[in-house]
Amino acid sequence: MQKTVHIIGAGISGLSAAVRLANANFKVHVHEATQQAGGRCRSYFDAATNLTIDNGNHLLLSGNRHAIAYARSIGTETGLVGPKRAQFPFVDLTTGQRWQLDLGDSRLPLWVFNASRRVPDTGLLDYLALMPLIWASPGRLVGDAIPSDGTLYRRLVQPLLLAALNVDPPEGSAGLAGAVVRETLLAGGQACRPLIARDGLSAVLVEPAIKLLQGKGASVQFGHELREFSLAAGSVGELKFGTDTVAIGSGDAVIMAVPPRPAASLLPGLKTPTKFRAIVNAHFRCDPPNDMPPLIGVVGGLVEWLFAFPQRLSVTISNGDRLLEMPREELAQAIWRDICKAAGVQGELPPWQIVRERRATFEATPEQNALRPGAATAYRNLFLAGDWTDTGLPATIEGSVRSGNRAADLVLAMPQA
Ligand SMILES: Cc1cc2nc3c(=O)[nH]c(=O)nc-3n(C[C@H](O)[C@H](O)[C@H](O)COP(=O)(O)OP(=O)(O)OC[C@H]3O[C@@H](n4cnc5c(N)ncnc54)[C@H](O)[C@@H]3O)c2cc1C
Repeated sequence: MQKTVHIIGAGISGLSAAVRLANANFKVHVHEATQQAGGRCRSYFDAATNLTIDNGNHLLLSGNRHAIAYARSIGTETGLVGPKRAQFPFVDLTTGQRWQLDLGDSRLPLWVFNASRRVPDTGLLDYLALMPLIWASPGRLVGDAIPSDGTLYRRLVQPLLLAALNVDPPEGSAGLAGAVVRETLLAGGQACRPLIARDGLSAVLVEPAIKLLQGKGASVQFGHELREFSLAAGSVGELKFGTDTVAIGSGDAVIMAVPPRPAASLLPGLKTPTKFRAIVNAHFRCDPPNDMPPLIGVVGGLVEWLFAFPQRLSVTISNGDRLLEMPREELAQAIWRDICKAAGVQGELPPWQIVRERRATFEATPEQNALRPGAATAYRNLFLAGDWTDTGLPATIEGSVRSGNRAADLVLAMPQA
């Protein structure tokens, strides 16, 4: 008999679990509280710029192998586009200096031995000083493991770890930072090619998954918020959605793939991260200069990463809580000034939009990392997924996909009822 799984939440973690289980011939039901799938990784039409934009500029690296495999499984791997070689142009807005970090295309970080490919004004010893990060424990602070000053820190370590951890790097978990470094920088240029969903996050990572699921007979219900579990005798008996209640059969399973706050209220006693950090994205409607690279790292300014999309320049600012109360127009003007310098453009502020995601990620500190639960729960038919579960990575698409796959694998391994 075909087994049934209910997946609560249609973010990337819920969708990756759903796709894996639909492919394993499960009857899949996805329940999403909002009217749109994708969660923190979605696109929408924005009237201010008259463009379809993403809630945030999401960057993947070619070393994010589970995220890429997920895209492949829904037929959109080619929608993740980037340069052939792992090259990262940077600009320092305080000095006007520009350089390109060229990580090459090797499986080893050979670029650190080549002065012309390294960050300018850095030497081999600066890179060797980063080694303790590679085997650091999750409970250690980045600031206690590696130097948090100097040229290499300012021009590479700080931008990379700030983007990955979404906290000021010295206060971040060295174990999480180490996992990122092992899977990207240490794995050579082949693992560091930047990849962007150029046609939008929903078109590349979300809608094709929904289509695939529906094609396999799965149901995807929007506006269907789980309000309560009926829990009895070590398992979930019912799902209560407010207007309707779904009974869970004895061999069936539930994957809860919602953010930490709803997860904690649905499952009292569940340990979850309790602190979060914001990410600020700003989008400006204008044609990028013809020779502009798709991504520029910016140091010495408000902006951290500048992305060139068709008809749009967009920026990302991580650890953005300090900007949450700043008046929108003032923030847009300040960001636009940075963009003009970094992209070499001029002119009045074009149509713009600012998206401030307050709880973009859990705080990737040792203290919060210690609160992440695994995928199994005290209930034999209930499993957890989400970027905040204990994936060993910071809150990223790669972590979300891994968590979804892991929850799905636990469902597949459930003993027969
Ligand atoms: C602005 C921004 C920029 C980012 N940049 C990057 C980046 O560059 N690279 C990268 O790898 N990652 C990035 N991330 C992180 C990435 O977006 C997340 O790690 C990932 O999308 C999380 O997916 P998830 O499925 O774990 O959770 P979510 O996306 O939060 O999905 C949870 C889903 O559950 C639904 N839900 C909640 N409660 C209920 C309920 N009771 N019943 C039913 N449904 C419910 C929610 O509506 C949501 O759809 C960024 C995030 C943000 C916000």
